[in-house]
Amino acid sequence: MKCETCGKQMRLDDKDTSSGRDMRTYYCEQCEKSCIVDNGIALWQALSDARKFDE
Ligand SMILES: [Zn+2]
Repeated sequence: MKCETCGKQMRLDDKDTSSGRDMRTYYCEQCEKSCIVDNGIALWQALSDARKFDE
């Protein structure tokens, strides 16, 4: 994950999959700003959906 503003590698600050989505917070030390990236459905959610589909 690179910063859109300065192109520097951003630090992964936080990862939250509790909502069923893979939400990651990245922080740019250069710009001192963070951004939240939605990586789609979290893996455990995808697996549980797959199980539901089988039943
Ligand atoms: Zn930056």
